[in-house]
Order: sequence, then C-alpha cells, then structure tokens
Amino acid sequence: MRRAVLLMLLASSALAAQPPGYDLVLRNGRIVDGTGSPWYRADVAIKGDTIVRIAPAITEGAARTIDVNGLVVAPGFIDIHTHARRGIFEVPTADNYVRQGVTTLIEGPDGGSPLPLRPFFEKVAARRITPNFASFIGQGTIRGAVIGDADRKATADELEKMRDLVRQGMEDGAFGLSSGLFYVPGAFTPTDEVVELARVAGRMGGIYISHMRDEARGVVDSVRETIAVGERGGLPTQVTHHKVIGKMYWGRSADTLKLIDEARARGVDATIDQYPYTASSTSIAAALLPAWAQEGGREQLLKRLDNPDTREKIKAEAAGLIRNERGGGDPRNVVASSCRFDPSLAGKNLAEITTKRGLPVTIENAAETAMWIVMEGGCSGIFHAISEEDLQRILVHPATMIGSDGEITLFGRNVPHPRSYGTFVRVLGRYVRELKLLTLETAVQKMSAFPAQRLGLADRGVLKQGMKADIAVFDAARVADTATFEKPHSYAAGVSTVVVNGEVVFENGAMTPARPGRVLYGPSRK
Ligand SMILES: [Zn+2]
Repeated sequence: MRRAVLLMLLASSALAAQPPGYDLVLRNGRIVDGTGSPWYRADVAIKGDTIVRIAPAITEGAARTIDVNGLVVAPGFIDIHTHARRGIFEVPTADNYVRQGVTTLIEGPDGGSPLPLRPFFEKVAARRITPNFASFIGQGTIRGAVIGDADRKATADELEKMRDLVRQGMEDGAFGLSSGLFYVPGAFTPTDEVVELARVAGRMGGIYISHMRDEARGVVDSVRETIAVGERGGLPTQVTHHKVIGKMYWGRSADTLKLIDEARARGVDATIDQYPYTASSTSIAAALLPAWAQEGGREQLLKRLDNPDTREKIKAEAAGLIRNERGGGDPRNVVASSCRFDPSLAGKNLAEITTKRGLPVTIENAAETAMWIVMEGGCSGIFHAISEEDLQRILVHPATMIGSDGEITLFGRNVPHPRSYGTFVRVLGRYVRELKLLTLETAVQKMSAFPAQRLGLADRGVLKQGMKADIAVFDAARVADTATFEKPHSYAAGVSTVVVNGEVVFENGAMTPARPGRVLYGPSRK
C-alpha cells in the first residue's frame, strides 16, 4: 500500500517535471510562408532551433506562448548583399537589421571579402552574434592579392593561383563568387578571366553575383556581361543592387530586364537583387574619379593628382561623372556620409563643401572638391541619381529579390544611407501597403524563400515543419521604414517579434540578451 502510494507520488512528480512539448508557440498568426502562397491562419510550434508544427490550433504545452493576435508571421528575412563585417564585431546584435525582421546577413559582395575566409568565420563564430552570417568570396580581393591594382591581364600562372583561391574560398564555406567590376581592381578584369573563376565556384555549387562594371551609360552591356559569365561559366548569375544611374540613362531598365527575360527563356539562371531607394552609396573616389586614375593604389592616385596634366584629365572626367552619372547632374545630389579626416563633413553635400572651401558652386568646382576630398583621405557618399520609375520596374520583376547593400550601424554615428535601417520594411510599407505594387506574399517571398533558394539554404526561408525557426512577426498595417536620408538613425516600425534559430531576439521594442546567430556555410565547406 505504502509502496503503491510512493509509486503514485513518483509518477505524478515525474509528470509534473516532464517538459512541455514545445519551447515556443506563436499563436494566432497570419502565416505568410515565404513561398508566395496566400496567407493562412495558424499557430507555429518550435522546439530547439526548429519549426516542428504548423497547425490551426496548437494546444499542447509550451514553455512559452506568444499570442501574436492576427499579425503576420513570416520567415526571417535573408539579406543577400550586406557589408556587415565592418560592424558585426562592434555591434554583434546587428540591431538595425534584426529590428526589420532580418535574420541572416550575407557578406562578401562587390568582389570584396575577407581572404582567407576560414579564420574570419572562426572569429565571427567566436563572437556571440544575433543574426546568422554567411559570405561570398570576392574576385576583386583575390585579384588584388595575386596581381595587385594593376590594369593588365593575368598570366597563366596568376590565373591558376586565383583559381586556387576561389577553390579555397568555397572550401572555407563561401556561397559563391562575387565581383565588383566597377571597382579597382575588379575594373581591370577581362570578362574571360571572370568566367574562368566563376567556373570554379560553379563546379563547387556556388553562384556568381556581380556589382557590374557600369550601372550608367554601360548598364545594358554590363547586364549582358553578367549574363555571359553565368552562361559561359555554367552557374547561376545575379545582378546585384540593380539600378540605372544618371538621368541620361533612365528608362534603360526596360532593356536590362528584357535581357534577363531572354536569358532565362534560353535556360540561363539569371536573377537580380535590389534595394528600394533612388540613391546609391559608395566611396566618393570610386563614384566620382575614373578607375584608371586609381590604378596602382592610393600612392599612384596622389601622384596623378599632383601632376597638372593628369590632374586636368581626372577633373574633366570627374565633372562628367557629376554631370551625367553618380553626381545626378547637381553637386547637391552628392552627400558625404562619413569622412574619417573630418567627421563634421558627414551630412553635407558637395555644393556645401565646395562653398565651405571658398569656391562658387559649379560642376567643375565640385569636381575640384571631390579630388580634394580624395586627397585628404576620402569620404563615403550618397548619390541621388536613380529614377523611381526604374526602381519600380525592377522591383516588380519576378526575378528580383531584396538586398540592402547596407551595413551594421553604430546608432547615431555618421550619416549613413537609410537602406541599412529600412530596406525590408520600406518594401513592405511603401511598395506593398501604400503603392500596392506587390502583394504582401510576393514581397515576403523576395526577402525569404527566393534568396534562400538562390543560396541553396535548404532549411531556411520558408515557414514549414522541419525548417530552422528564423521568424519575423509584423503588423502589415503599420510596418514601415522611419529612416530618412536626413535622419537615417531610426529603427523600423511595425515589427513586433523576431526569432533566430528558435530564440526570441527582439520583442516589446527591444533586443533580448539572446545571441543565437550562427555562421552558415556554403555547399563545398570542408
Ligand atoms: Zn555594390
């Protein structure tokens, strides 16, 4: 008898101590699953880092239940183009991204990546980070390491060395090869050489993603080149941050998109990513000085600026770039975002800086100011030279996904491009809700399942049983970007809960202490 009571007691205490079935249940959501299918009502149950069940009413025990009360429950967003490595060590929580619902950041775009990647990944993994983190291997970085900033073809020996470095990058865990053929030294690379390296990445399961050679006058040819690299290299190819720069060339997205459609029709796997803003951001040197002036690096550039003949040539080309390309035809359309040599210049436009230097504001004097900025040590800038019409045409194209081209910001420092704070929520607020250019389901697909499929991330990007629990919860009626060009340090509105690998990282308007982010490795990691 006593024994029976004891057994009963033991059994009931065992029952009480038994953990609930799930670690987290998100109840009463409108599921936008990432595939583009219409939303549906359901609860989402998570155990560990995995979505274990999605069903209309999950009533079993859970360690924690959040009633999302009709809000949208979507896969966490995957940003295929970021410059997050500058900030990930300083701000490992990546607040400006996570608060938009971004749960995975992809680095190494524009031909620039850490080299080698493996020790860099180890460093990131050792830092407790909030979002997941991954990278491409950069063609420009590889060329710089083997050939330097020289404007010439590679020798057979150099080509072999570069192939090896691509192979190594893929074995270290890259998701493919990126190029920045607009930048030095990428600008000195013949297409054939890019094809040779892309082929190596493609054989190892990687994709090719390119900041193209020219996004202004040569934009159509550049899209042709990007397609050719995919077609000849035998791998998926992507035009990154697709845009048309310079008023004279506005409208050409109709031609570039036609090229993409034709390529896809003949079986070339060509896609696009884009950020939803009519201004770009890069260094003033890259945007407003010709590439040839930068051959051989900064020292050579300074020498050319010292020589009156070459200086005049550089100035004339810089004036042309201000008039017709990234300068947007007006020095007021170029705004310094950060200047190490004089932080007070951040937020000032090229007209204001020209006036400050005692010169009347003309395009020629603005070119003088641009050269002065570069000689002083350089600034990064924001360039208002893209049309809303091109932006919208590219955005609604079915082969276009969303990528920010942003960075992890330190809140309040400098005057960065608002894309770092607003890209994803701006698409959901302005282009879905206000302009009704996209359905909510299509927009989410462009931020989740589409980039996941592009990268070969088979266990993320869709809300489905068995997938990793990266989740963004937001109010479709309120979600919006609040960051502007004037006041970029302003977080997303309307996102209420963000989950990474099953752990809540953002809720009630604040980041939580959880840092569940992981380094994600590409298909050939050894
Ligand atoms: Zn770029």
